[in-house]
Amino acid sequence: MAAGNWKMKTRRNDSDEHRRKLNEYLLRQNAKMQKKLQDFIDKALFRGDSINDIEKEIKRLSSDILRSIDNAIYFAVVLASGYMNDIGDSYIKSAAAVRGKAYSNELHESWNNNVQDSVRAYVWDKEYPDGKTLNDRTQRLAIVAALTVLNASNNSKYANLPLKELQGKIAIDMQNVGKAIFRVVSNSSSNAYHATTAEMASRMSFVEGVRIKRAVYGKGSSDCMICEEHGGSVGGEGKTYFKDEFGGRSTDLWLMANAPSYHPHCNCGVTFMMMPISEWVFGGVK
Ligand SMILES: [Zn+2]
Ligand SMILES: [Zn+2]
Repeated sequence: MAAGNWKMKTRRNDSDEHRRKLNEYLLRQNAKMQKKLQDFIDKALFRGDSINDIEKEIKRLSSDILRSIDNAIYFAVVLASGYMNDIGDSYIKSAAAVRGKAYSNELHESWNNNVQDSVRAYVWDKEYPDGKTLNDRTQRLAIVAALTVLNASNNSKYANLPLKELQGKIAIDMQNVGKAIFRVVSNSSSNAYHATTAEMASRMSFVEGVRIKRAVYGKGSSDCMICEEHGGSVGGEGKTYFKDEFGGRSTDLWLMANAPSYHPHCNCGVTFMMMPISEWVFGGVK
């Protein structure tokens, strides 16, 4: 399998370091997944010519894909919460300089409380524009993989090929399936990253709101109505949303529901707008 033939776009972030780690992780996951796909080809090929015969292999492949997605989501959540804690720490240090007092332990607890569970549930349950969830998409990918093997083994052009060559041909046919799997893994971990930062920001009392900007991680499409609605035009200032506008805690929901990316290849990003430190310190900590 030609794993690693497609180059992953390096995504830029207000936290390059965290993104770089996520990218490295995804590339390793991808290499593992391509190996699983190769195993799948080899096994499915010897399971006769009926789709029922390879049902077991389909189940195995879809659980491999599920595990790969879940690991990537987990990794992204851990990274993003570390990144948000860094923001919190540096903010608290400045506050401590103003007032000579730190609130760090208490605050960190309130930010991190159940973030992981709620974000993972959110990403798994999220419905894409086609009305499908991650589970549905994974099942579909495994079935498409099986059909690719079946089509190739029924292809009369391949009929007289030695086994090794046949496997090679199927591996080439399978490249698009491999890419599609990688896209789902990488898109869902990106969602998890954004959802974590959004969820934590909504719990941090000094974060007043967010600014959603287009084309943060790459090119933005000038005719995408979804992104335009949330982040304004490409090259613009972005759009700002304040917690007060949504009645305090209900912002959690709002942020979660609207966290980019809005669709695969969406390059919208979020930055946080923080209260002036003196205002936060003298206004008290909620
Ligand atoms: Zn868009
Ligand atoms: Zn976008």
